[in-house]
Amino acid sequence: MSTPGGRDLTEVLSDFLSLCARILLYVGGVAAGISGAVLIFTIFKMGDSSAAAGTADALRNVGLMQPIFAISLLAVGIGSTYLFWGEEAVSAVALVLAAALFFLPLYLPLMTAGPDTNEAVRKAYAAVQDGGTVLGIISIVSLLTQVGIKSRDRVKVGVKADSLKYGKGVKEETEKNNVFLGKCWQLPYCRKFVRERCPIYHSRRTCWREQTGCMCEEEVIKGAMENRPIPKDALLAANMIPRNNRLTVDQKRERCRNCVIYNEHQRQKYQALLPTVLIFYVALYALLRTPLLEATKSMVFNVNRVIYGLSYGAAGTNQVPPVFVEGLLVVTFIVMLSYSLKMLEYAVFKLKL
Ligand code: SF4
Ligand code: SF4
Repeated sequence: MSTPGGRDLTEVLSDFLSLCARILLYVGGVAAGISGAVLIFTIFKMGDSSAAAGTADALRNVGLMQPIFAISLLAVGIGSTYLFWGEEAVSAVALVLAAALFFLPLYLPLMTAGPDTNEAVRKAYAAVQDGGTVLGIISIVSLLTQVGIKSRDRVKVGVKADSLKYGKGVKEETEKNNVFLGKCWQLPYCRKFVRERCPIYHSRRTCWREQTGCMCEEEVIKGAMENRPIPKDALLAANMIPRNNRLTVDQKRERCRNCVIYNEHQRQKYQALLPTVLIFYVALYALLRTPLLEATKSMVFNVNRVIYGLSYGAAGTNQVPPVFVEGLLVVTFIVMLSYSLKMLEYAVFKLKL
């Protein structure tokens, strides 16, 4: 359906949603900046115990800023997710920012007058953590959804049809073979009429290993059109595999990279490796959770000590709450998993390993 300006209705709707997302991002960003600055200022100011007299005013300010900070980060999270959908790096950066806010009580006391018992300071920390939690939840959901959708598309489609040069318009056979991680003649793009006269099929080999096949070598198709007989014996059939000496090995490899048959093989490879990566991370977490928690705790403790050393404070007086340590480990795992999946996608579909 078109609007009076001749624009498609979905286009108008998409522009409108982009505008709303931009407003959420910019207004939310400014509001988060101001309310966050007030909260941090309160922490610094009230961290000095001599300022305890102003606690009531500070508590009022914190009470006002707490919902503003959380709502503005919600707006930033929603706006940036909409505008940068498909750019997982943006969600990963937002996740790191959320973690920095959530773990603020771990490191900020080292730069202020140290751990404080002032109520306004505690509430200000809690307000910053609430904001970090809101942003963290949106980032985790958005990151996992985007990675999930991308992985699902890769599992279903593999590479896009427009990045193929060989066999681009070829449809899957109706009477298709589909052996998971099979040889070329066991995949859905092997056409029956070519297969019956194909030396690669009769020799029980794989075209991408031989670097010659039905999508790239006209001799294979010619043989099928001319109904050229192929010996049933695998060794004799192998002698009939056409060899192209005009191209280098690298050129032939490049052909395979752009071929529908090889990309189907890569898609299946990805389909097999994807659960392996997921299982690897789940198993790693389950098996090494205790030592990893210990390592994370001691890392946080050492950072504490270094910063305390720099600020002449008493080293190691801060206790690290277990929920912080576990949260830090989980966030680290989610980011590592997302990047491992991106690396897997790159290795299988770009490098075609
Ligand atoms: S080269 Fe082509 S026709 Fe021959 S077996 Fe492989 S996919 Fe089938
Ligand atoms: S380009 Fe590679 S994968 Fe495609 S048919 Fe030729 S040898 Fe097989």
